[in-house]
Amino acid sequence: MAHRKVALVTGASSGIGNAIARSLHRNGVIVYAGARRVSRMNDLDDLGITTLSLDVTDPDSVERVVDRIVSETGRIDILVNNAGYGLMGALEDVPLSQAQDQFDVNLFGAARLIQSVLPMMRQQQAGRIINITSVDGKVAQPMASWYVASKFALEGLSDSLRLELQPLGIDTVVIEPGGIQSEWADIAASHLQETSGNGPYKQTANRAAAILKAVKQFSSKPQVIARLVDRAALSRRPKTRYH
Ligand code: NDP
Repeated sequence: MAHRKVALVTGASSGIGNAIARSLHRNGVIVYAGARRVSRMNDLDDLGITTLSLDVTDPDSVERVVDRIVSETGRIDILVNNAGYGLMGALEDVPLSQAQDQFDVNLFGAARLIQSVLPMMRQQQAGRIINITSVDGKVAQPMASWYVASKFALEGLSDSLRLELQPLGIDTVVIEPGGIQSEWADIAASHLQETSGNGPYKQTANRAAAILKAVKQFSSKPQVIARLVDRAALSRRPKTRYH
């Protein structure tokens, strides 16, 4: 008899990650949902999804979560690396420590999770790693250099990883959302205001702020991306990228 698939979704306390966790659960997947703000996942608890405290920048936290899933289910079929945020501001204005923090979540966070699930996936000779990148992983934007760089890097990491893991039966897929309604644009707008809202890049920052406002108000709902993740996670032969 076919086993139920087991998935770990990061950044499930909000927006896209929350929608992905719900949708995979609806499709019969055993979902483990992680984020730092556990109380923001009560809605997922109510559905029977297991919610866990997870900080993707903390190796102990990552190890604890993966160990728990393996000990409870004996497998991990799907990893969705969704946790991320958009650090905005002119390159000249953004302290390098903040740029490093951006990479620690958007790139190294994903890599930490991948390293942690791979021993199980190799043992299974099967698995699917789904990395949420962005249209900003393909197209440059002013006032977003570190975010864009982190997403370009995640694209490159994913494409290399795919070649490494294919012979082992493990698929690597990237999902490249355009603008989506979530907390993302609010967080990005506050970074922008803080770093470049009043300095020499003010005009460009104002234009970027108007775009972020439009993302918040007019773009698609997170469920659109959740449907792409369902296809990436559950179809027999996934495409390499969905957007
Ligand atoms: P939200 O801000 O709504 O959600 C981001 C999620 O990431 C939250 O659940 C947050 O949880 C989690 N997160 C942030 N830092 C960490 C951390 N250190 N450890 C664990 N979880 C963390 O944004 P979206 O849902 O829109 O974004 C999801 C992904 O989609 C991101 O990677 C984003 O870059 C990407 N994306 C978004 C687009 C958009 O327009 N919204 C467009 C293209 C890509 P908590 O704070 O509780 O830990």
